[in-house]
Amino acid sequence: MPFSELGLSAKVLAAVEAAGYTEPTPIQAQAIPHALAKRDVLGIAQTGTGKTASFVLPMLTHLEKGRARARMPRTLIIEPTRELAAQVEESFVKYGAAQKVNVALLIGGVSFDEQEKKLQRGVDVLIATPGRLLDHFERGKLLLTGVEILVIDEADRMLDMGFIPDIERICKLLPFTRQTLFFSATMPPEITRLTEQFLQNPVRVEVAKAASTATTVEQRLVATRKEDYEKREILRSIIRSQGDDLTNAIIFCNRKRDVATLSRSLEKHDFSVGALHGDMDQRARMATLQAFRDNKITLLVASDVAARGLDIPLVSHVFNFDVPIHAEDYVHRIGRTGRAGRSGKAFTLVSKADKKHLDAIESLTHQAIQWLDGDLSSVPQSNAADGDVEESSGGRRGSSRASGRRSGSSSERRRGGSRTSSEMPVEAKPEAAPAKAETVSAPVLEDRPAPIRRPERSSERRGRDQGRDEASPVGFGDEIPAFMLIATGV
Ligand code: ADP
Ligand code: MG
Repeated sequence: MPFSELGLSAKVLAAVEAAGYTEPTPIQAQAIPHALAKRDVLGIAQTGTGKTASFVLPMLTHLEKGRARARMPRTLIIEPTRELAAQVEESFVKYGAAQKVNVALLIGGVSFDEQEKKLQRGVDVLIATPGRLLDHFERGKLLLTGVEILVIDEADRMLDMGFIPDIERICKLLPFTRQTLFFSATMPPEITRLTEQFLQNPVRVEVAKAASTATTVEQRLVATRKEDYEKREILRSIIRSQGDDLTNAIIFCNRKRDVATLSRSLEKHDFSVGALHGDMDQRARMATLQAFRDNKITLLVASDVAARGLDIPLVSHVFNFDVPIHAEDYVHRIGRTGRAGRSGKAFTLVSKADKKHLDAIESLTHQAIQWLDGDLSSVPQSNAADGDVEESSGGRRGSSRASGRRSGSSSERRRGGSRTSSEMPVEAKPEAAPAKAETVSAPVLEDRPAPIRRPERSSERRGRDQGRDEASPVGFGDEIPAFMLIATGV
């Protein structure tokens, strides 16, 4: 189906053509007509398959009529990280070129002044992370009663325990009559139930079963002992073995301190490397990401702050230095490569101690991932005792819903603990934290309330997920645009 049959305006169609898109992706073809018909939509499609344009294009068509009033945005897009919010702002520059749309980006870590000025002038599109949005509201600089369309991108993440108090609050400030669009590549059943609270009679557009990994990513597991020095050595050797196939790579660690350690180590070994995690100053975060986008840095060592949504075409490889603790994160992390039909490779280092997390990933994604060489039985016993693996996300999904409401202002609330554990008030530390609690990094994403107890959800979720129907992951479906067909050579 061509773009021209979806019901988009002439200006938007011109922008799509200028972007070089010849055909809509399946999620675009299926979601855009419903979005234009003012239906609520729950859109699920794999990473890198064009979900952003699925909401931006109909929004732009809608915005052609009407004008924004001071402090009253007409549409609102909520994103989990500052970088992703900034990236979505860029897509308005790309798709909204022919139109005069006023876009404001409300993210933490930067000054309020510019943001306030923009709000005052009247904005058509507000793109925000939840904490900063609520801060502006509390300062009286923002009224949400004029919002006609709400988009929650990475919706399962935004309804996760860490964010949901803010999302509930924000949604109460919006008019009941608004249209709501949710998008993600993953959607655990328990979160789907929560979406009912926010969506009215939604159309569920599911291009591929939720949590299907992108079919364009070749995945391999690498058996290792759990000692970091050994993992670093293995990582270096795989990177080197990839030769020119590796253009750019993101290397994910579970803990922020390991991001710093690993990037320093790679630097010492003469790799071109930068680090990105949530404790860094915002300017440094943006600068590093820009350098990576501009190909000035080849390797980006990152926490899960980079796991969702980032769209950097040059990324040819993803490495999981650590197996992610939450299986959904695996789908998102490896989805930073193999985007828009390109091929990509993802290597995950696995030690015996990671076995249960690996099982959860394979169960969630309904696949057995191949080992690069031997499996775990080929790995000699570790020197150190097994079983002391730290769980980085001690409170990541474990913040109680109430925690977000404990203090009056959202900035105060965040001061309560969405940074490192060492910055956290003692009473806010995870109750059942592992023995090394003081060294465990707190949630890496910003704008998240204080973690106050450890999650039980990952194991619960794993249990339930095992009952899911079997289905082979579908990539772009049968409707892959021809230009996106690139052999992956798995
Ligand atoms: P998702 O949100 O599904 O992970 P994005 O919206 O970030 O994916 O899009 C991934 C990439 O695909 C972007 O670089 C975007 O420019 C590109 N893209 C989106 N739609 C199309 C299309 N119809 N044709 C070609 N490329 C597209
Ligand atoms: Mg996206």
